[in-house]
Amino acid sequence: MQVFKFGGASVKDAAAVKNVSKILKKLTTKPTIVVVSAMGKTTNQLEQLVNAYFYKSSDPELILQQVKDYHYSIVNELFPDPSHRIYNELENTFVEINWIIEEEPAFGYNHVYDQIVCLGEIISTKIISAYLNETAVVNKWMDARGVIQTDNTYREGKVNYELSEALVAQQLLPVFKTVSVVVTQGFIGGTSENFTTTLGREGSDYTAALLAYFCNAESVTIWKDVPGILNADPKWFKNTRKIEEMTYHDAIELTYYGASVIHPKTIKPLQNKNIPLYVRSFLEPDAVGTIIRESDKRLPIPSYIFKIDQILISIQPKDFSFIAEDNMSAIFSLFSKHMVHANVMQNSAINFSVCTDNDKQKVEPLIEELQQQFKVLFNTGLELLTIRNYDQKTIEKLTENKVILMEQRSRNTIQIVMRNVS
Ligand code: ASP
Ligand code: MG
Repeated sequence: MQVFKFGGASVKDAAAVKNVSKILKKLTTKPTIVVVSAMGKTTNQLEQLVNAYFYKSSDPELILQQVKDYHYSIVNELFPDPSHRIYNELENTFVEINWIIEEEPAFGYNHVYDQIVCLGEIISTKIISAYLNETAVVNKWMDARGVIQTDNTYREGKVNYELSEALVAQQLLPVFKTVSVVVTQGFIGGTSENFTTTLGREGSDYTAALLAYFCNAESVTIWKDVPGILNADPKWFKNTRKIEEMTYHDAIELTYYGASVIHPKTIKPLQNKNIPLYVRSFLEPDAVGTIIRESDKRLPIPSYIFKIDQILISIQPKDFSFIAEDNMSAIFSLFSKHMVHANVMQNSAINFSVCTDNDKQKVEPLIEELQQQFKVLFNTGLELLTIRNYDQKTIEKLTENKVILMEQRSRNTIQIVMRNVS
C-alpha cells in the first residue's frame, strides 16, 4: 500500500488534473490511497465566503458563484458530455453551501467555517475520482469524514487514533478487494455527532500521513510543484539546493518553523511507524525528489526558513515577583486557552518573552487576558529565522540589515527574532 497526496496546485486546472491522471496511470501498480486537497486557491475563497456570511461583510452568494464558475470551467473541459453524472453531484454539493448561507449562523465561527470550507475537498475529490474513472484509473471515492475521527475542536480537530484506525480497517481497507485506487480528501475529519472538522490549514499532508499510519503503508509521496525539499525557500532565495535525504528530526524542525513544503504534523505518524516520505515534483514525475526517513545523515548544508508576521510578547509580573513555575503555568494556560502556539520563548528573573505568529483573532484576546495579571509589552512585524545545521557565515548573511530582538541556539539550530533596520 502506498499513499499519494496531491495538493491544490497539482489540481488547479483541467491540464493539472490530466497530469495527475497520467502520473497515477503509471504509478498505481500497487494499492494506492490518493489524498487530494481543494483545487487551486479554493480554500481561501471558501474562507472569504465564510467571513462574508458570518460577519455579513459582503455577499456570500457572489463568492459562491465565483467558486462554482471556477470548478465548472474545469469540469466542462474534463467532461464534455453535459449529462455526465458529475454535474449532478457537484450541484448537490454546492447546494449544501446554499442551505447553510440561507439561514442565520446557528453555531460559532469555527464550527460554521468547517462545515463550509470542507466542501472544497469534497468537490475536488468528486471531480478527480470521476475523471480518473473516465481515464482508466479505476477507483472508488471515499468520504474521509467517515474514517478520520476527531474531537470537536473546530478548525484544529484532534484526531482520535484508535477510533480512526478501527474505521480505516472496517471501511477503507476492504475497498481494496475490488479496486486498487481509493480517492479521498485531505484536511477534513468528522466528529461523533457527524459534524465536519478541519485539521488546520494545509492539513492534507497530515491526512496522508495518518492514513499511511493506519494502513501500515510502505510509503507516502507528496507531489509538489518543487523538485523536493530545498535548503531555503526559492520564493525568497536564489541558488537554493535540493536536499536528497533528510531525517524525520530535521524535517519536523524545519517544517514546524515555517518550511511550508510539508505540513509539520505529517512527520510524527510516519516516524512512529518508520514510513518513508517522498517529496516529488508533479511537473517532473520521473525525477527523484527528497526522501525523509530515519538515518544518520546530517543535512549537507545549512537549511533555513523564515516565518514572517511574528509578534514578540514580553510578559512581566506586575508585583515584581519572579517568573517561576506558578507564573509560568498561569501564562501557559492562557496561551493554551487561546490556542496560541509559542514559536520561541525565553525567560529571565522577572520577564518571559514569547515569539508567536501574529494571528490577531487569537493573539489580541490573549494579550487582553494576560494584561489582567501581568505587564505586557509587544513588538509586531517581526521575522523568525530558523537555521538548522547553521554556520557563522550563513547567520551573518541572513541577519544583514536586521535588528535582532531575541536569539536562541542549540547544537543544531539557531533561532533569531528580528526586524529590518528602519
Ligand atoms: N485545502 C486546504 C488548505 O488549503 C488543505 C490543504 O491544502 O492541505 O489549507
Ligand atoms: Mg492547499
